Amino acid sequence: MTGYFSETYREARDRLLNLVREAADWNHEEIRHPEPGPDAQPIYTDVLWRGPRDARRVLSITSGTHGAEGFCGSALQSWIASEAPQLPDDTAIMLVHAVNPYGFAHIRRVNEDNVDLNRNFIDFADGRPENRAYAEIFDLLNPQEWTPDTPAEIAAELDRLRSEKDQLAMMKMISGGQYDFANGMQFGGFEPAWSRRTMEDIWQRYLQSAKIVVQIDVHTGLGPDGVGVLMMAADDEEPHKAITGEWLGPMFVTPRPRSRAETVLGGYMNAGMEQQVDAWVIPMTLEYGTRPSNEVLLAMIEDNWLVHHGEIDSEAGRAIKERLLRVFYPADEIWREKVMVRGQEVLAMALAGLGTLDPDGVPLGACD
Ligand SMILES: [Zn+2]
Repeated sequence: MTGYFSETYREARDRLLNLVREAADWNHEEIRHPEPGPDAQPIYTDVLWRGPRDARRVLSITSGTHGAEGFCGSALQSWIASEAPQLPDDTAIMLVHAVNPYGFAHIRRVNEDNVDLNRNFIDFADGRPENRAYAEIFDLLNPQEWTPDTPAEIAAELDRLRSEKDQLAMMKMISGGQYDFANGMQFGGFEPAWSRRTMEDIWQRYLQSAKIVVQIDVHTGLGPDGVGVLMMAADDEEPHKAITGEWLGPMFVTPRPRSRAETVLGGYMNAGMEQQVDAWVIPMTLEYGTRPSNEVLLAMIEDNWLVHHGEIDSEAGRAIKERLLRVFYPADEIWREKVMVRGQEVLAMALAGLGTLDPDGVPLGACD
């Protein structure tokens, strides 16, 4: 079952497209990214569609929003391409492979402009959100020099901050996103990124007939090792919270931001989809845990230092890239096995659940 996993973006894409070709009932569109991969070959976001083009129920599965995290979502997409599950009436599956092909191919979590795509789906016309706390720790997260002592020094300072601040304040400060420092960690961008514009175009063209869309964006690097946790943003009264609980069991639900100040921690692709698609979107993130959070964060800090101050094409640079890859994609058969078992369970239950929903009976207020 771990045969669906690949070691590079190129291998992952080829595997998926070969499976799709063999299955023959998929429609494929490739959208070329303006920049090449590290092998100087073109890279793409690929859209794969199976089922009626005017299906009113759609299961959408996206991979590689955080580039280097793309390997697990890609493996699950390859599984679904080869498995070709029976679709309920009036239902289609849409796979978007490599939302952020640059990050996937070059092993970065962010995109070609250092942008975290899950902070980029904000309304830029409304002004960029401020994250004042981030400015205080800018130097900590973005060191100019990297020495053998740097990781331990950063880890110690992070631990000290954690002992002073509550968890939410820490989360907003470190990973809430920031819109001021283009070379800094957790940058949300100055404008909509290529991947955002591409996704909005895909939704516009493919989801015209959809009335209900179950969306699952697959990520890695957060939570307990080898466990696939489902997450969504929803308020208590929203119908999709109860429905997905029935289908899929426990879910990590965060309340929606209520004020402008709370838009730190906003800008997710799933939220963008809810806003852009004129359907009832049931948005979920499937997040697989890998390594302890300090280790993941340090690997991201080190990679950001490498890209802006170091030399990628060097022995040290390649070692940093390997560390970054492995905090998001462990080279561990048991971990990969668990990823597949959980992913297959979630996708099968989501598809079955979607099949029980009536496209003529979408709850009022569910599509705004
Ligand atoms: Zn992620």
